[in-house]
Amino acid sequence: MTPAQPIDTARLTLILNELRLPAIKTLWPDFASRADKEGWPAARFLAALAEHEIAERDRRRIARHLDEARLPPGKSLESFDFDAVPMVSKAQIMALAAGDSWLDQGANVIMFGPPGGGKTHLAAALGLALVENGWRVLFTRTTDLVQKLQVARRNLDLEAAIAKLDKYHLLICDDLAYVTKDQAETSVLFELIGARYERRSLLVTANQPFGEWSKVFPDQAMTLAAVDRLVHHATILEMNVESYRRREALERKRGPGRPASRATAKSSA
Ligand code: ADP
Ligand code: MG
Repeated sequence: MTPAQPIDTARLTLILNELRLPAIKTLWPDFASRADKEGWPAARFLAALAEHEIAERDRRRIARHLDEARLPPGKSLESFDFDAVPMVSKAQIMALAAGDSWLDQGANVIMFGPPGGGKTHLAAALGLALVENGWRVLFTRTTDLVQKLQVARRNLDLEAAIAKLDKYHLLICDDLAYVTKDQAETSVLFELIGARYERRSLLVTANQPFGEWSKVFPDQAMTLAAVDRLVHHATILEMNVESYRRREALERKRGPGRPASRATAKSSA
């Protein structure tokens, strides 16, 4: 055996920087001394460092995707009370949270229900779970999105603006039916729906069921075409429950000692 050559650790640090291997850069001295002490084979030492680098890279990517997703804070599946929405099956939501089959096909999710029923919460929670599972998501209020797309259209840039959203496997459009009665505003939205059809998924929440949409949106034919594409491959969740906040308030008023009655807490206090 040749005598061990001294290692230029300062140069090694520079090289690891240059190679963009920050985890290995931080970890190698510890790992090296453990490997020396415990007599690890060289391959084990290298493999251990490589595993840490890739795990760290995944963590950073997910953190980046979480950042770009603009999800409303604090809305997770763990904090969602499924008992309050008995018509929504937890198993079905958990399956959606895995992503694979529906996002690969560009299928959609539509959540209907009156205000306060948990649509935004559930949509955001699903988005969070999907990001954690490696998907890219963007959460946006539909009015904000429509405004951006309209600006793009004025700059003759609508197609590019819509194409830019392709990087998101799921685009969450919160409160669709609030959008507006203005023809130009709805048409950018319908162009987006057309562009993503069978390619990229949408999750839409709305206070009004489809039947009401033709009243909200001015152009009947256009609305029908958009609805048709939206529902063609879609999971539809009807969340017809009383406002969660209102129910919580009612239960507080009733005071302790009584079991919280969930979806049926319609009786006046
Ligand atoms: P919507 O979007 O249907 O109007 P939100 O999701 O904004 O309703 O819900 C209103 C409030 O009640 C939010 O603070 C939300 O976190 C909470 N909430 C609604 N439903 C539930 C639920 N099933 N479990 C836990 N919190 C809920
Ligand atoms: Mg909402």
